[in-house]
Amino acid sequence: MKSNSEINIDRQINRDDLIVIAGAGGFIGGALARYFHDLGYTRIRAADRKPLPQWYQHVPGVECLSMDLGEKENAIRAVEGAAEVYNLAADMGGMGFIEHFRVECLRSILVNTHLIEAAWRAGARRYFFSSSACAYNTDLQRDPHVRALKESDAYPAMAERGYGWEKLISEMFCQEYWAERGLETHVARFHNIYGPHGTWFGGREKAPAAISRKVIEAMDSGNLTIDIWGDGSQTRSFCFIEDCVLGIDQIMHCDRLIATPINLGSSELISINDLVSMVEDIAGVKLKRTYDPAAPKGVAGRNSDNTFIRSILDWEPHTPLRTGMEKTYAWIRQQYADRKAGKRVVTD
Ligand code: NAD
Repeated sequence: MKSNSEINIDRQINRDDLIVIAGAGGFIGGALARYFHDLGYTRIRAADRKPLPQWYQHVPGVECLSMDLGEKENAIRAVEGAAEVYNLAADMGGMGFIEHFRVECLRSILVNTHLIEAAWRAGARRYFFSSSACAYNTDLQRDPHVRALKESDAYPAMAERGYGWEKLISEMFCQEYWAERGLETHVARFHNIYGPHGTWFGGREKAPAAISRKVIEAMDSGNLTIDIWGDGSQTRSFCFIEDCVLGIDQIMHCDRLIATPINLGSSELISINDLVSMVEDIAGVKLKRTYDPAAPKGVAGRNSDNTFIRSILDWEPHTPLRTGMEKTYAWIRQQYADRKAGKRVVTD
């Protein structure tokens, strides 16, 4: 299997072709804008509905549009002249958000619906959609000792209510725009992406960031306890952001993956209890645990079966969780200190 540095991607686009990234004010879209900028692409257009000061990353030379892409006219404006369109825009968050705001999650369908139509009309060469492991049949995820989910497990469909169904139907849009209209589309099902420059407080954060913040808060306050959602036996895999952007790039430029949803996740499974222990170890502390059985906890277990991605790309996300968590923890600790000192931080 290839290491990240051995990957060579034939993108068949010029350095000055226009790359459009929707949702670039957020975590993954922001990281993707930085990635293409660092590779030397000179025309990147970023769009997000948040006001500019709230974008997580500000990448030099990137054209930034603050607009709601759920509005048709804005979607048309955003993709004007685009060679490639990456749709990373969605109203989303961790379980605390997607279990409570299903309508908001479902309404993200407007973004993909307008954006894919506009991209097709604008003559874009490729279109990427960020789907999710939440599109998988929830009946297969009732046990913490799950078998990993493979791509065919999305059907028969019983996706996560709200968020998962939006992803599943948007995937279908991508497949039919290819089948009927010849727009080359690519779809990745992300499994819990984490890392620096992500949401770490405010209600939309996911487990790796939330646990890191709680550990930091406990140490700072001297109240050495941590509150865990559910009984902590839920299992997940977590994919580091650097693997995620590299995976998006490979999937988008692979002819064998046109209109073919594929897992983009790590297969290193861990329980939430063990993730807490890992963060405690990184922080050098041991906390008293309390459990909140009524809190949102999602499915009992979920892992990514990477057989397909390995067979197609000879690669899979493989940054060890411990390595990624050390970087994430260090970044959140700095954010926490900055915020305490009155500086503006991500998510403010
Ligand atoms: P994020 O919340 O950090 O970023 C999403 C961005 O989309 C936000 O900045 C938000 O303002 C923007 N947005 C939402 N609605 C919009 C609209 N109508 N018009 C314009 N912009 C809008 O989330 P993320 O973690 O970067 O996720 C990116 C994509 O990946 C999303 O589609 C998400 O569903 C998918 N995904 C993420 C994960 C994960 O673990 N982070 C897992 C599975 C799927």
